[in-house]
Amino acid sequence: MAVPQNRTTSSKRNMRRAHDALVAANPNECSNCGELKRPHHVCPSCGHYDSREVVALAKAVVDEDAA
Ligand SMILES: [Zn+2]
Repeated sequence: MAVPQNRTTSSKRNMRRAHDALVAANPNECSNCGELKRPHHVCPSCGHYDSREVVALAKAVVDEDAA
């Protein structure tokens, strides 16, 4: 098994990890309800994608049954 010849110093290790930070997602506005949502994902608050409803929300289904 290959074994490192030299110990990685804390300085070199930290320089390598300087680029490992996670970057935040870039949300954009839902065209239907204006809520912030992830790009290319169904809107979690209204269930719309590409300006049409693709996911019926549980609350809306319950309201329809009650009416
Ligand atoms: Zn929406």
